[in-house]
Amino acid sequence: MLKLVLSECLQAASFVRFIWHGGEPTIAGAEYYRKILAIEDKVRRDGQKVTHSIQTNATLLNPQWIDLLKSKRFSIGVSIDGPEYLHNFARINANGRGSFREVQKGIVLFRNAGIKFGSIAVVNSYTVNFPEEIFWFMYNQKISFSANACVAYPSDPEEVRQLTISPMQFSNFLLRLLDLWLKTDDPTFNIKPLDDIIKGILGRQPSLCRYRGQCQMYLTIDSNGDVYPCDEYLNQNYNFGNLRQTPLKKIVQSTNLNEYYAGRTIMQTVCQNCQWFNICKGGCMREWGGSKSITDPRETEFCKARQFLFEEVRDRIQLLGYSKKEILNV
Ligand code: SF4
Ligand code: SF4
Repeated sequence: MLKLVLSECLQAASFVRFIWHGGEPTIAGAEYYRKILAIEDKVRRDGQKVTHSIQTNATLLNPQWIDLLKSKRFSIGVSIDGPEYLHNFARINANGRGSFREVQKGIVLFRNAGIKFGSIAVVNSYTVNFPEEIFWFMYNQKISFSANACVAYPSDPEEVRQLTISPMQFSNFLLRLLDLWLKTDDPTFNIKPLDDIIKGILGRQPSLCRYRGQCQMYLTIDSNGDVYPCDEYLNQNYNFGNLRQTPLKKIVQSTNLNEYYAGRTIMQTVCQNCQWFNICKGGCMREWGGSKSITDPRETEFCKARQFLFEEVRDRIQLLGYSKKEILNV
């Protein structure tokens, strides 16, 4: 399967970025990734650019891993939710203990080896109450991070909702982070998605798919070869084919997948008159329950929370002294 996935991806595009994530992708062991790189060397075309990223909890790192990640220049994201008592709220090992100390050991290994990394902090129903603690923990450790909301989507079952927060809670959480970040006046530190929202307000190019309005930036391939539009959609309704039966190039060109992508265009037509459209681009497709189940994104809580967030960020940017000319017409 590994050879099939690699050769299909490398045949389908001239520039390929592999993002390895799980579960926990380091469980497979460093040797497994050496095997991946060896296969890649065999199937890569001359001059083809291929990069690798890994999203890890950093608890299984050892010298072999450090050597591999450093020598092969992997981009690294570490999953850490804040200080110990917040991180351990939801990140429990198989032995029932919080994983914070193991994560910290992994971070020390990265630092000792001079490896740069970013991080993802998931904001859940408990940690959402501690923006200050999370900000200062990350800032003092010089860990730029992406705050990712644990939100419930329209299609999520009731049992996953215990840890979730509302879109408005997340907007307020981000605003508190922004106020603290602005106080530090430190451009070496970065918080996503605030950084992308500010870029959008200043008319610059954001990096996250949802702020670029581009769902075509990624495909997710499951370990059995099933292809999904992105990792938000690992369920049968959004399975667009399997690499054992259908070449990736054919899946990418298939009517079903393109109809799915067209859902974004339909939604964006509805959004076009919104004053925040150039910054929001309609948001994440997942928030609409897929492409077809909601006819108007403005009906969603996500939209209301986003409009509130954009307005508040815009006001803060104005206070920083950016002129009306520099700020998009919002
Ligand atoms: S804020 Fe709401 S209406 Fe405006 S672009 Fe975003 S989703 Fe559409
Ligand atoms: S569904 Fe959301 S997360 Fe997935 S590619 Fe589209 S915007 Fe990005």
